Amino acid sequence: MARKQIKQPLPFFEKVAILDAGAEGKAVARVDNRVIFVPYAVPGDVVDLQVTGKKKSYYEARITAMHRPSPWRIDPVCRHFGLCGGCRWQNMDYSRQLHHKQKQVKESFDRIGKFDYPEIRPIIPSDPIYFYRNKLDYTFSNRKWHIDLRPEGETHIHSNGLGFHLPGRFDRVLDIEKCHLQADPSNDIRLKARKFALSEELSFYDVKTWEGLLRNLIIRNTTTGKWMVIMVFRDDDEEIIRKFMTHLQNNFPEITSLMYAINPKRNDDISNLEIRLFHGNPYLIEVLPAFHSGHPPLKFKIGPVSFFQTNARQAEKLYRVAAEFADFKGDELVYDLYSGTGTIACYIAPYVKKVVGLEYIPSAVTDAEENARLNGFNNTAFHSGDIAKIMNDDFFHANGPPGIIITDPPRAGMHEKVVRQILQARPAKIVYVSCNPATQARDIKILADHYRVTEVQPVDMFPHTQHVENVVVMEKSDE
Ligand code: SAH
Repeated sequence: MARKQIKQPLPFFEKVAILDAGAEGKAVARVDNRVIFVPYAVPGDVVDLQVTGKKKSYYEARITAMHRPSPWRIDPVCRHFGLCGGCRWQNMDYSRQLHHKQKQVKESFDRIGKFDYPEIRPIIPSDPIYFYRNKLDYTFSNRKWHIDLRPEGETHIHSNGLGFHLPGRFDRVLDIEKCHLQADPSNDIRLKARKFALSEELSFYDVKTWEGLLRNLIIRNTTTGKWMVIMVFRDDDEEIIRKFMTHLQNNFPEITSLMYAINPKRNDDISNLEIRLFHGNPYLIEVLPAFHSGHPPLKFKIGPVSFFQTNARQAEKLYRVAAEFADFKGDELVYDLYSGTGTIACYIAPYVKKVVGLEYIPSAVTDAEENARLNGFNNTAFHSGDIAKIMNDDFFHANGPPGIIITDPPRAGMHEKVVRQILQARPAKIVYVSCNPATQARDIKILADHYRVTEVQPVDMFPHTQHVENVVVMEKSDE
């Protein structure tokens, strides 16, 4: 008979000081030279820690007792805090969140970069810090996750819920009563949708058996108060769908774009599905102030699957910083790398000779062309493809050498080939907009052979998360 291995109990540590804010929104402590990641701790706390996971070089632990709360610890506003993985820093004073974001930029640059840079400008805070998102994606589930507070003996009436996936759990959905991320009537739309579904006894999706009618509810809005709602059903049950959609339409006159899709697939991706219009327009128009106040505001068309920065007011500040750093004279050929739906290209088009955008999602390129048209620009051109492949010498030859390059890559940063091609093109200036200072530092390190960093400006787009955007301008340092 195989002998059972005796499991060592996981360590317990008393009165540990939480030192810093770390990766994935978890705070960091250190005991015996080993790093401990602690979710929902605030730097400055002194706590008891029960280790919950032991890895080669670090522990994961949870707080079991609080000895001294950090001076920056505050009560989270959200009743779902601690379960929902969404706003992990909500128990930290906002000014301290900003401090840690600023520090994240500096530490990434010092640790990874090893290049010279000027003093980092103070991070631009988000205003507002709640209800700042313009898009939320909710999931219907027939096995909602909840802590049952009902007295014993009472039976469960149902376990249908509508909310967010628990962090790392595709099969667990936290039913949401109130989310502080999107303005009114976002919560009301979700609550009414759920109530209607329950009263009509409609089936909520089961991720394990792939059954159930109701799958997703996507809510988008603009700074101008227009709303788009996309309901995703598993089956094309015409009568029920009409009833459901009519209920939303009658209750929410603010929904100017009411749409739905049928998704019989096993994954939730709707980007390749037909999105049907039930009522109103098949898109929203977002409006952002132009860089120069004398110019008309910019309009952006947002279709059901179009990308748009989720904190629009902060996006405008981010683009403003990028444009200020670029300091256009008017005769420049600018490349906008990772151009998405052309928001940066449109923002800068009036102030330059021409903008060439590069982006690999074809529908985003179509959106970008449409956005340029909508704003009356005829000095933009967008190319679809993987930048690492298409931005080669032939491309520079065909489109002209860029005087300025603006780049806004995803979290992974730029492919090294792209960085090398930028060096090859030798623009006078590079404006690097990043959502990950670590990969930004890695890329800048290569560029620093021929460029010097002249400005660094972090921007907060996502309060209560560890995420930070950072804009850097680099100028050619040799001839
Ligand atoms: N600048 C835009 C979008 C930035 S998001 C804005 O502010 O709205 C980054 C974009 O890079 C996404 O649209 C993504 O589709 C695109 N992308 C990612 N990897 C790419 C690659 N290798 N080649 C081209 N585009 C890429």
